[in-house]
Amino acid sequence: MVQPVYIANTAKMNKAQQQYFTRQLMHWHATYNERSLPWKEEKDPYKIWLSEIILQQTRAEQGLPYYLRFTAAYPTIQHMATADDEEVFRLWQGLGYYNRCRNMLATARYISTELKGKFPDSYETIQALKGIGPYTAAAIASFAYGLPHGVVDGNVYRVLSRYFGIETAIDTTQGKKEFTALANQLLDKADSAGYNQAIMDLGATVCKPANPDCTNCPLQKKCFARENGLVGDLPVKSKKLTVRTRYFHYILFVHDNKVWIRKRTGNDIWQNLYEPYLAEHETPVQAAELVQLPELRLFRLKASSLKFAGKHSQRLTHRIIESHFYTYVVKRPPAALPQDGLWVPFEQLDKYAFPKTVLSFFGKNVYFY
Ligand code: SF4
Repeated sequence: MVQPVYIANTAKMNKAQQQYFTRQLMHWHATYNERSLPWKEEKDPYKIWLSEIILQQTRAEQGLPYYLRFTAAYPTIQHMATADDEEVFRLWQGLGYYNRCRNMLATARYISTELKGKFPDSYETIQALKGIGPYTAAAIASFAYGLPHGVVDGNVYRVLSRYFGIETAIDTTQGKKEFTALANQLLDKADSAGYNQAIMDLGATVCKPANPDCTNCPLQKKCFARENGLVGDLPVKSKKLTVRTRYFHYILFVHDNKVWIRKRTGNDIWQNLYEPYLAEHETPVQAAELVQLPELRLFRLKASSLKFAGKHSQRLTHRIIESHFYTYVVKRPPAALPQDGLWVPFEQLDKYAFPKTVLSFFGKNVYFY
């Protein structure tokens, strides 16, 4: 817990201190920043937007191959707007947070038809697009159009809170307001794209969450957290996430070299992706108990034929999805299976988009039948 040593008042913050921060940061960016990513220096708002959507909740190293695949498949927003939904979801497969993909497609189509293919060019009109918050709007506005908007992402919160010693919680309305105002004050107006890139890169490569490289940091001489031994305490968050575990029991029905899958619908995770038959329960259950669950009783499954095929855990922001996989070979397709499912030959499974968890199961098991 941070001791109340200092509460920064950004309004009164010393102008010289702010200028020093910006000067040091821009000098470091021009001289030492070697972080190279294909979307840096990019000016095409479509490609910047695409990279930002891919990088929401995804590390740059993980997002990079997706960015390259998407820009190769859809070099312009028109290409994406006219693409087939299933094909786009397949390319997205493995990135998770599928709402991002859905919003991305909807936005591409909106820009293509309603805006005649012209990407919006002001902060407000960019932020009005689906799936775009203040951070992404500031990033596109500054990187594509050089507009004076400071980005505030996890890296920026960390650098600013440590350097200036700000202990306002970053997950509060007040925190967001205060840090955004400070980011805009510090911005190098003549090179807003360079400044934004610099502060995010410094946070990603030097002022890291754990073990920041303070000795090689351009801001070390005047960094409040470093001077006061508060590096590990900043930034401050008001609440910890409560993470609940959900238990998914997947039954892969196999019949005549085909498997039964179904598209997920409803207001839940993984919308529009496919999965085998799912029985969710508040606790993990074994085969004997599983066949007795109310939704499965009608199937009249034999517990002894239900083969346990492994377990997989996936962490989402607020949830852990613990999946238990079973296979069940049937002579005749069970009549109780929901009507909206499909029987798909094994070799055609790659035509459908699945959540990462289901893919991990397929990769290990399905092709051995
Ligand atoms: S001196 Fe250390 S804590 Fe301060 S900004 Fe640099 S890396 Fe971060």
